[in-house]
Amino acid sequence: MKYQIYTARNYRQIPQISQVSQEDLRSIDVVAHVLPFKTNNYVVNELIDWDNYQNDPIFILNFPQKGMLSPEHFSKMAQAVDAGADTATLRKTADKIRHQLNPHPAGQSHNVPEVNGEKLTGAQHKYNETMLFFPSQGQTCHAYCTFCFRWPQFTGMDNMKFAMKEIDNVIAYLRQHEEITDLLITGGDPMVMKASVLDTYISRLLEADLAHLQTIRIGSKSLAFWPYRYLSDPDAEEVLQIFKKVSDSGKSLAFMAHFNHPRELETEAVQKAIKKIRATGAQIRTQSPLLNHINASAQVWADMWKKQVGLGLIPYYMFIARDTGAQEYFGVSLHRAWDIFQRAYTRVSGIARTVRGPSMSCTPGKLRICGITEIQGEKVFVLEFIQGRNSQWAIRPFFAKYDPKALWMDDLQPAFGKEEFFFETELAEMLLE
Ligand SMILES: *Cc1c(COP(=O)(O)O)cnc(C)c1O
Ligand code: SF4
Repeated sequence: MKYQIYTARNYRQIPQISQVSQEDLRSIDVVAHVLPFKTNNYVVNELIDWDNYQNDPIFILNFPQKGMLSPEHFSKMAQAVDAGADTATLRKTADKIRHQLNPHPAGQSHNVPEVNGEKLTGAQHKYNETMLFFPSQGQTCHAYCTFCFRWPQFTGMDNMKFAMKEIDNVIAYLRQHEEITDLLITGGDPMVMKASVLDTYISRLLEADLAHLQTIRIGSKSLAFWPYRYLSDPDAEEVLQIFKKVSDSGKSLAFMAHFNHPRELETEAVQKAIKKIRATGAQIRTQSPLLNHINASAQVWADMWKKQVGLGLIPYYMFIARDTGAQEYFGVSLHRAWDIFQRAYTRVSGIARTVRGPSMSCTPGKLRICGITEIQGEKVFVLEFIQGRNSQWAIRPFFAKYDPKALWMDDLQPAFGKEEFFFETELAEMLLE
């Protein structure tokens, strides 16, 4: 299958676009100035149900929607478009709006590792055992999710871009940090890289012969957005050989697949691609944010986890949509998130209960909502860290005042009249370093 990209420039050539109303087309045109927009022929022809496009989860996942901007931002952008403003003016208007959308959340700038006094700007080491690596050539995706918090990387705000060419720097860092067992290669989507580039990174890592490095993880949405990466792309076979090389070396390859909706698991292409990847010895784990308008239903999640298990995939994370971009549109309250998680979890067997969530990645760490309960007359959220900035914070239950409207950690207050959460003083000190 030949890969055909559609963006704001050429999407009107999509044959099925004739089914989209004039009003919706205009919204796409306006919003696409601010939020990233890219889709492809697989998504368009095999995933989207065009007869029902307005409520179609995959259409909403790729095509900008009016509600993704506030009415004020939408009309500002629309005015500039209608006035026939030049490119520079359109860009300035869009950048102004983007800066108001919290493009750089969760204190990521505090996790940049250093090796021999030099900053590794394309890497993050926030939790003890796992290091993140953002290869510079994997900073795009086969299509763009409209909810994505990495959108500053795709829209020309280059100064914020995490990118790095030197795997050798990563290796040097890994040598000095024997506590690291996992290297997570992420993006964008590292699977947009040509096999030859991916092979450079992987081969050097394997040749470095780091005994403490057990698992190479690859975070990717390619199975959902372009399964032909593993079937018919010219270097598909080479990619699978690279995966096999990892397994053969005695390390494990964990393919962290991003799926947002059960429909993404239903095509013949994705099912074949999953088989091919699993045949290399790789394990596939899955993760997704919980998104209003796309998958905010217990039935959808239970169905997704069941389908995943049926295909040999291991459910891993349910995330709460983070506080950036179009959060008003996609956001689900913490209460509702827990309710959906609980109802979905209780509908699946233990095999699918490997999933952890609903979780939030925020400055102090990755938090999970364990439940909502009442303790001595006070209604509370029960929380725990899955991963803490201090690793010792993990799985210690703590409590926040129940707030039905809370969407994110920042909205929560400690319960029982406490001044602060147990980790706050220590966190403040860590952030000063
Ligand atoms: C989730 C995450 C990891 C990996 O944590 P695991 O519990 O090992 O899956 C690493 N770094 C960051 C920044 C993360 O958010
Ligand atoms: S595939 Fe991942 S990085 Fe790419 S747009 Fe979607 S969420 Fe963002």
